[in-house]
Order: sequence, then structure tokens, then C-alpha cells
Amino acid sequence: MGRQSDADPGVAFAALGNELRLTILRRLAAAAEAERDGLSFTELYDELAIDSTSQLSYHLNQLDGRFVRKSDDTYALTQAGDRVVRAVRSGTYEQEPTFEPITVEGACPRCACTTLSVSYRERLLTVACADCDAIVVTYDLPPPATEDRTSEEVLAACDRRARNDLAVALEGTCPTCGGLMAVSVERTDEPAGYSCRADCSQCGICLFAPVEARLLYHPGVVSFFWSHDVDVTSLPFWRLLPLVETWEVEPDGSEPLPLTVTVVHEGERLVASVDTDLSVTLLKDL
Ligand SMILES: [Zn+2]
Ligand SMILES: [Zn+2]
Repeated sequence: MGRQSDADPGVAFAALGNELRLTILRRLAAAAEAERDGLSFTELYDELAIDSTSQLSYHLNQLDGRFVRKSDDTYALTQAGDRVVRAVRSGTYEQEPTFEPITVEGACPRCACTTLSVSYRERLLTVACADCDAIVVTYDLPPPATEDRTSEEVLAACDRRARNDLAVALEGTCPTCGGLMAVSVERTDEPAGYSCRADCSQCGICLFAPVEARLLYHPGVVSFFWSHDVDVTSLPFWRLLPLVETWEVEPDGSEPLPLTVTVVHEGERLVASVDTDLSVTLLKDL
């Protein structure tokens, strides 16, 4: 566990907080793309508009070990440096995404409205009831997701990403940084039920989803719905509610987990247990 100093975000951002250092990272990325092992000090010095070699030494020292590694006289990007260049190129740090609002069909958790409005607000792509504004689902919207796509395509792309992120997160791995995620279930009031929660111990990101969503990744549940001509693997999150509202979710004891979930569809039932690590076991077909 010798990585605590690396994880200090203040030190990491200070190392990046300079245009010249970002330029160094970009040049090293371009060298890697040209299938070169790296650039020498002299090559970097010749390429950069810089006043002195001591200035370049200073900036390379600030990046060294975390974003840049030196072997012999050659500098190259580390994986962290490579991630920084990708994030800068994709505009993740610089742009605000643009999104033209649309409406989609779905179900409001609070009223009977079936029209949902989709808009970008408070830095999230938000699907909410067009009538009472109850929020149905929110998505992360990185600026590259909006390029060359219609609003409908943007929403579909965000949903696919969220579906994959959630699959990884609920199994205990952070989709953002790869760190260990602690998973749990908590009661919710609106809508009344149970919500899965995954918290990353490293980057602090937290993902929520109704516990019913966990079951939609189980092959037995997928095939149960497939036998009813329903493909739950492509069901967007904003259409989840009508599918799951007849299900029954009951804790086995005083703690939320384990939970017994009865999946109900067209008069048929499938009973599953969600254990403390959020693993799903099918109990029986009824
Ligand atoms: Zn509503
Ligand atoms: Zn993380």
C-alpha cells in the first residue's frame, strides 16, 4: 500500500497547474504515437519555447515519477500522464457540453405522467417528469459524448455507458479509477423501495441504482424476460420503472441485506436473493 503520497490530489494538480507542463505531456504523447520510446532532454528543449535548460529541468522534476518517467536520458509518459493527455484532448476539463432538450416516453415515479423531459442541468444530463419535475435518472455527460450526435443519440450513449459502469461498480470495482468499491443497500422513500449504492474508496465517486436494476444483469433474469420477448439488456434506465413496479422486494431480516426479490411479469414469477455483496442467486421459478 505504498501509494498514499501519489494519491494526494493537491500535489498531483499542482504538478499539472502549468501550461508548459501540459505541453511537455502533449509532446511526449505525440512521440509515443510516432512509436518513439520517448524524447531526450535536448529534443524537448529544442521543441519548446523555453528560456533556459534549468527551467526545463525544473518542470520535468515537477512531473517526474507521477506523469513522466525518465530512463537513461529519455523521458516518456507514465500511464497517469497518458490519462491526463487523453482527458485534456477530449475537453473533459475545459468545455461545457451542449445539449438541446428533448422529451422521451417513460414513467414518472411520483405522478401518472408518461412524458419525461431530458436536459443538461447542474452538470448532469437529467431525465425528469415533464409535469412534476421528479427526477427519474441522471447521467454523467462528458463533452465528447455530444459531438456528432443528436440529443436522442447522446441520451442513448449516456445510458449505455451508465449501464456498463453500474455493472462494474456493483461487483466492487470503480468504473472511473479501478479502485475498490464498497457496496451496500439502503431504504429509499421516493420512490419507496431499496437502492444499491457503490462507494469508491479511492476517487470518492458514488453510484446509486434501484436494487431491481441489479437483477437485470443476472443471466437467469435476462432469459426470463427474453422468454417474454423483452430484452432487458437494452432497456434504458428511464423505462425501468414500468417493468419493475409489480416486483416484490422484502428484506430477510432486520438489515436491508440479504433481500428476497420476486420478479413478476405477465403472471409469471421468478424469486431471487440479493446477498450482502450484492451477488444474486435465483431461488426458484413459480
Ligand atoms: Zn411526475
Ligand atoms: Zn474510483
